[in-house]
Amino acid sequence: MALLITHKCINCDMCEPECPNQAISMGNEIYEIDSDRCTECIGHYDKPTCQSVCPIDNTIIINPDHKETNEALWDKFVVLHHTV
Ligand code: SF4
Ligand code: SF4
Repeated sequence: MALLITHKCINCDMCEPECPNQAISMGNEIYEIDSDRCTECIGHYDKPTCQSVCPIDNTIIINPDHKETNEALWDKFVVLHHTV
């Protein structure tokens, strides 16, 4: 599943440079995650690194509209990083 940034976000800028897939960018009001680029950090970290660096608990959550299997996340990783 891709992750989602909720309105608890305080625009602290911590997560954006940490994303290994450049999935995070500033939106109209708060930071947003591009679900086409978010792999839950699979292939890079054991757990989503944006959640690890975010100073506000429960700001970055699982996006219920983007449920994906582990296999789908790995496919996304391969496409994003051109690895075989
Ligand atoms: Fe980026 Fe990982 Fe957060 Fe997804 S879970 S937005 S890939 S840092
Ligand atoms: Fe918002 Fe958390 Fe990212 Fe800071 S680290 S910009 S509070 S989502």
